[in-house]
Amino acid sequence: MKNYPIVFLLLFIAHISLSQSIEPSPENISRHIRKLASDKMKGRGTGSRENDKASEYVKKQFKKYGLQPKGTHGFYQPFTAKVRRVTVSDSIWQTRNVIGFLDNGAAYTIIIGAHFDHLGLGRQGSSKAEKPKGQIHNGADDNASGVAGLLELARYFSKNDVKESCNFLFIAFGAEELGLLGSRHFVNNPTIPLDKVNFMSNMDMIGRYDPNRGVGIGGFGTSEEWPAVFKDVTGKIKFFTDRAGSGGSDHGSFYAKQIPVLFFHTGGHDDYHKPTDDPEKIDTEAEAGILAVQIRLIENAMKFPKLTFTEVK
Ligand SMILES: [Zn+2]
Repeated sequence: MKNYPIVFLLLFIAHISLSQSIEPSPENISRHIRKLASDKMKGRGTGSRENDKASEYVKKQFKKYGLQPKGTHGFYQPFTAKVRRVTVSDSIWQTRNVIGFLDNGAAYTIIIGAHFDHLGLGRQGSSKAEKPKGQIHNGADDNASGVAGLLELARYFSKNDVKESCNFLFIAFGAEELGLLGSRHFVNNPTIPLDKVNFMSNMDMIGRYDPNRGVGIGGFGTSEEWPAVFKDVTGKIKFFTDRAGSGGSDHGSFYAKQIPVLFFHTGGHDDYHKPTDDPEKIDTEAEAGILAVQIRLIENAMKFPKLTFTEVK
């Protein structure tokens, strides 16, 4: 009996160290980005073998965190990516979304997403390099950084020993660079009812934090509850809000279905859509800080039963 206080103290210390190891870490972020944006992945162009390999990597992590498969073929939701303006055969590619579900037995679900595709070997048309063809467009910031964030949030919410008041659906989207094709395919063929979606949080390019600018958080005008959710949230990193609910990335597909959104983005830079968007230029320390802010926002948002959608005028 007299050992009780010591046992209690040890449990307390164990709890503290456990909750610390759960927080998003620069080491994990770096590992994911170095894997996805390595030359071996050849830029993860839609339709390539390496694009498939990148989606397999995401699936492997989802499995490791104990998420349930929520695609149409296990974790995968395959679709055909067609680029509308051209109809030659090589403008039609097979790719997929990767979808994992954390079931907390709740009424509503929060969707967290990031696209995993990039420009491959520069033949897709949106490269900003002078001679893009044949060059590996690694896409470390765009958007291995967002996928690393997605994986760290999936790990956090599935391993934190808290049963949240919402379920979570984690989606790595395919074919964003060809015009938000993966997210549009998902909202038109959802694997959970869209009217049960609380809100969607998207990460696209969160690896180039500039302390003078701060990280931009879009979607602030898409729900009247966001101001209350953001109130008193601070972090090691600086952020500013932007009201827009669409533009630039996959959250726009959800906004178009009247779902409140958030969009995390550290801004444009000289390596944008060029072969020089490389892993060593990523600020993983700051990215971990951005993810910590996102977690606080999500936790605050869950104090409301369901966010109401507002159209941004
Ligand atoms: Zn992107």
